[in-house]
Amino acid sequence: MRPFTYERADDLETAVRAVSGRPDAKFIAGGTNLIDLMKLQIETPAHLVDVNHLPLARIEDADGGLRIGALVRNSALAGDRRVREKYPVLSEALLAGASGQLRNKATTGGNLLQRTRCFYFYNPGTPCNKREPGSGCGALQGLSRIHAILGASQACIATHPSDMAVAMAALDAQVETVSADGQTRAIPLTDFHTLPGEHPEVETALRPGELITAVALPPPPAGGQAYRKVRDRASYAFALVSVAVAGGQVALGGVAHKPWRATLTEAALASGAAPVDAADAELAAAQGYGGNDYKIPLTRRVIERTLAQATEAARG
Ligand code: SF4
Repeated sequence: MRPFTYERADDLETAVRAVSGRPDAKFIAGGTNLIDLMKLQIETPAHLVDVNHLPLARIEDADGGLRIGALVRNSALAGDRRVREKYPVLSEALLAGASGQLRNKATTGGNLLQRTRCFYFYNPGTPCNKREPGSGCGALQGLSRIHAILGASQACIATHPSDMAVAMAALDAQVETVSADGQTRAIPLTDFHTLPGEHPEVETALRPGELITAVALPPPPAGGQAYRKVRDRASYAFALVSVAVAGGQVALGGVAHKPWRATLTEAALASGAAPVDAADAELAAAQGYGGNDYKIPLTRRVIERTLAQATEAARG
């Protein structure tokens, strides 16, 4: 690990001021991904600003929905009575992620910012445009079993690893932020993460020094909710494919550089299409890279099954 300096921020203004204008500085909260990346020298911040003591750890009722502070731990969010009752898809997605120990430490804001688990990204001996722009993509000619089938580019075919964010995408969540100049923004979660294009090293809409303060959930949509995740092990494994359904709203995980809102599936369902046809509407644009071709039929089946599960949930 490279040497770095550390400071603890006790208020928002101090935190954002400490990071803005310093490209070599980073915020740290749970640190469950960042510390691993620092040990491998994939992330090499010269300065860390600890935000764990900011007043951002509450879940509050807001406008008929919920405002979830950026420092709410994943386990606390999954167990919150309001989340379990009104947003079960979110609770299920959180509990499908990581391990109990990691969920106790990981925060809402940090979960959104975790980085891909692409094998090549973590291996400095291989090319990776995300880790080292312009160096190439090891996965394109290599092992692509866990990689994207939607929205990828010739520069990068990595996927976003979060379960929580997939459920939040289906729930029309908004990511709230603050910048060093005090300006606040509410970014739709579906616009928060970016597609790789020519710049896979850019992963979110955050500006330098901008800090996530909360995630706001609107009132839940009418209809049943369900989250289904297919993975290599029963626990502590990232999604090969996951599907979140909230009423008529559908999002996919493990298939793209970002949580993928399946708007074509939603439109087909709204016009009365059968679930399999609605799934195919989204997957018409899907592309495999050899090792991950299996994800296309798998995603079709998981969409169908999760829609059925949500319908069953709505019946109680
Ligand atoms: Fe790097 Fe993306 Fe290629 Fe993986 S898929 S090696 S993260 S450029």
